[in-house]
Amino acid sequence: MVCIYCKKEVPGDYCCEKHREACGRWLEHVEKWKYVFLACLAISLVAGLALLAFTQSHFPFLVMIGGAGATILVFPFTTPETATALGLRKSIALGRWIGVAFVAVAAVDALCRFV
Ligand SMILES: [Zn+2]
Repeated sequence: MVCIYCKKEVPGDYCCEKHREACGRWLEHVEKWKYVFLACLAISLVAGLALLAFTQSHFPFLVMIGGAGATILVFPFTTPETATALGLRKSIALGRWIGVAFVAVAAVDALCRFV
């Protein structure tokens, strides 16, 4: 078996009490915020699609990418498959990096267009 949190080889589910607590806290956090997370993603998408009706530019796509990126940055909820494959700690870090990348793409593009 490996530790669910850090993927270290251990006899049980966790390598230490600290990682067991970290997993418990994370699951509570996901449970508490998952609908806000989904709502934010949906709002980014709907806002982008709504803007598409008013403009020919690619500004709506920036709204979608930036909105989705910011949402993933704040709530780096990856899929259970990712968490299992990478360990929970790395999957959270990966989520944050994806969020940062999305926001950065949107920000750089916005700067190039509007400055
Ligand atoms: Zn561990």
